Amino acid sequence: MDLTLGDVQLELQGRARAFTRKVLQPLEAEFERSGGRLPAAAKARIREASVAAGLVGGSFPRDVGGQGWTMLEQVLVHEQLGQSTGGLWSFIPGAYNALIHCSPEQRARYLDPSLTGERFGSYAVTEPGAGSDARALAATAVRDAATGDYVLNGEKWFVTGPPDETDFMIFHCLVVDGSKRLPTLFLVDYETPGVTMAHDPDYMHTFADRHPQFVLSDVRVPESAVLGDVGQADELTNEWFVEERIHIGARCTGAMERLLTLAVEWAGERVQFGQRLLDFQGVSFPLADSAADAAAARLLTREAAWLADTGADPKVVHAKASIAKLFASEAAFRCADRVVQVFGGRGYMREYPAERFFRELRVDRIWEGTSEIQRLIIARALEKRGVDRVVG
Ligand SMILES: Cc1cc2nc3c(=O)[nH]c(=O)nc-3n(C[C@H](O)[C@H](O)[C@H](O)COP(=O)(O)OP(=O)(O)OC[C@H]3O[C@@H](n4cnc5c(N)ncnc54)[C@H](O)[C@@H]3O)c2cc1C
Repeated sequence: MDLTLGDVQLELQGRARAFTRKVLQPLEAEFERSGGRLPAAAKARIREASVAAGLVGGSFPRDVGGQGWTMLEQVLVHEQLGQSTGGLWSFIPGAYNALIHCSPEQRARYLDPSLTGERFGSYAVTEPGAGSDARALAATAVRDAATGDYVLNGEKWFVTGPPDETDFMIFHCLVVDGSKRLPTLFLVDYETPGVTMAHDPDYMHTFADRHPQFVLSDVRVPESAVLGDVGQADELTNEWFVEERIHIGARCTGAMERLLTLAVEWAGERVQFGQRLLDFQGVSFPLADSAADAAAARLLTREAAWLADTGADPKVVHAKASIAKLFASEAAFRCADRVVQVFGGRGYMREYPAERFFRELRVDRIWEGTSEIQRLIIARALEKRGVDRVVG
């Protein structure tokens, strides 16, 4: 395994670092105070600065308007974005990787405007009765033989995206074909008749994204709304899970780096009982444990990315992405907890990043497959792929 960073990668890492520090971090406190609302001008500033920094559509090839980054390069960028709170990176134009399967017409309507920030999409898989167990999905698409349209029905929860910007969803459902149920993705505009946002709950974190619940009731879409092929949804959604689990590993690693930087700075200056906090082992040892966690998370995540880039068996990459996500998300939460403690009462104040990270990192153990589901994937891979390939 060669994880050496070349000049191009170091330059990209530096650009993402500068963007995070100069554009995202200065907005964090105001964003938190406002309960998760940014003025339009601030959102526009994030969009424009991300375009200027060449950080838009990283995973997409250059010929469709992306940056053509390798997975390792995506990781380098997400390690930096994860050093901001509030999920403010969500305002950077981009698209779910499934949109690479757009037809030319879909590309003009969904992918191109997503990469310029004119449109934002969400990815609707989870339902009230189907979370970890995607086999229980109940949403359906039934072909109308007379018109060729599909009629969609279903209820989707946690449909994530920036609230004022998101205007279409990738709807994961089952095409009913006689006795067959074919998992299929559809591109559905929020303004289509029959699409209703039923509830928009508040969550633990104060985030750029909201996670509302949608009901689709007899929503009629043309056959051209199918993304990819009928029956291909599980494969495309799985591609998304693997990529996003690696991104989560990277952002959790970045969060740990920022938490540690702040903690070391604070504990190096704060004096109690005539000594710097950092000179008490009760303070410095938890930070040492966090440094070990952060370094391990970084390696696991970069290793998963390197395997993806070098054409390793996708099933092994799948397992490695789960290992990275599982370890990094649990380690980041431990690290945030320790750093809140090191900051004492200040660590409990929302104006301090440690408090915000403590709330925000919790969801990384839940979304894109809970920690328990990552363990299931890893445990199955141990048997099916072999211990040597999973841990080697
Ligand atoms: C903020 C937020 C944003 C989200 N965004 C999206 C989104 O954009 N699109 C989308 O489709 N979904 C999204 N989700 C949904 C998320 O992926 C699910 O919440 C997650 O997959 C868990 O499903 P569930 O909530 O139904 O929990 P359940 O599946 O009901 O699980 C409940 C508990 O049981 C455990 N459990 C379940 N099965 C097993 C098992 N076999 N072995 C051991 N333990 C098990 C789980 O790990 C969990 O601890 C989001 C969730 C949140 C909180």
